[in-house]
Amino acid sequence: MPRPINATIDSAALAHNLGIARAHAPHAKVFAVIKANAYGHGLLRAAAALRAADGFAVVEFDAALRLRAAGYAQRIVLLEGFFDRRELAEGAARRIATVVHCEEQLRMLDGLAAGTRLDVLLKINSGMNRLGFAPEAAGAAYSRLQAHPGVGKVTLMTHFADADGARGVDWQLETFERAVAGIAAPRSLANSAATLRHPATHFDWVRPGILLYGSSPFPEVSAATLGLKPAMTLASEIIATCDLKPGDTVGYGGLFRAEHPMRIGIVACGYADGYPRHAPNGTPVLVGDRLSGTVGRVSMDKLCVDITHIPGAGIGTRVVLWGEGNPIDDVALAAGTVGYELMCALAARVPVIEKH
Ligand SMILES: *Cc1c(COP(=O)(O)O)cnc(C)c1O
Repeated sequence: MPRPINATIDSAALAHNLGIARAHAPHAKVFAVIKANAYGHGLLRAAAALRAADGFAVVEFDAALRLRAAGYAQRIVLLEGFFDRRELAEGAARRIATVVHCEEQLRMLDGLAAGTRLDVLLKINSGMNRLGFAPEAAGAAYSRLQAHPGVGKVTLMTHFADADGARGVDWQLETFERAVAGIAAPRSLANSAATLRHPATHFDWVRPGILLYGSSPFPEVSAATLGLKPAMTLASEIIATCDLKPGDTVGYGGLFRAEHPMRIGIVACGYADGYPRHAPNGTPVLVGDRLSGTVGRVSMDKLCVDITHIPGAGIGTRVVLWGEGNPIDDVALAAGTVGYELMCALAARVPVIEKH
């Protein structure tokens, strides 16, 4: 028998979650954001499940090429744009659209071969302060793109810093609207949080990522409340048990000390599988059909879970680290991170089971 850990990727859940995005933004087209190996779910696996999307958004040039080579004909956009002239030329030849966020990229466009029709998303910095043209520079950048014979469709774009939080989007929307006043071009603004919560940002193309994978973009609203289904379930088994006497400690550093007699299960999952090492005692783990918590420090290949009050649990009992029955957002909250980071960190050594 192989080591019992695996990740199940549920295609029906991905398709279902795309439907939730569409239901919230019925008049917009959807770029399914499948950067970072589709947030750990597998690029082509996720693309197949999300093939009804109007477009795909990635960061990695190689991912864009793989999508085209796999036969996807919809729009594909590079969210950070191209990094050199070779990517620009090859991308343009394969009708891969690109974000243009800075003067250097705009200048690189001058090298575009005659006869190309490169679609561009012009990115404006409306307050995130990472990528994008300053609001005052947006009009001039747009004019240069429009005048360029090798540039096809231009879409106006910005990205929100707190669409999931208290500050919301209005402050950025105002800056964006002022920057592009008078420009009649399609717009793409909304990430998952804005797709779900801020209809005024929907415009022509929304760009949901995290919601597709069944994790909530909002700290205070669960994925289930939003109607989202978990696309990734990381599961393993108890491979040994250990009885503790009061005073016994568990694992490296002795971070957990038993106060009463206890029984713990040793689970075949550790940080080399993508489970966060900094998850503290009590991070939720589903053991069989009962929720329990971790004890002691997560090690490279193993973690420990309290099974004192789960009499049926023993060697071979199935454990869900996150996913079906143990929301990834609960695990992330306990571990001081977000669902995004957990799913992206799923390690290559974990076998994947595709569920359809
Ligand atoms: C990653 C990303 C998104 C998707 O964000 P989510 O919060 O996962 O919905 C949208 N737009 C841009 C530019 C991104 O980089």
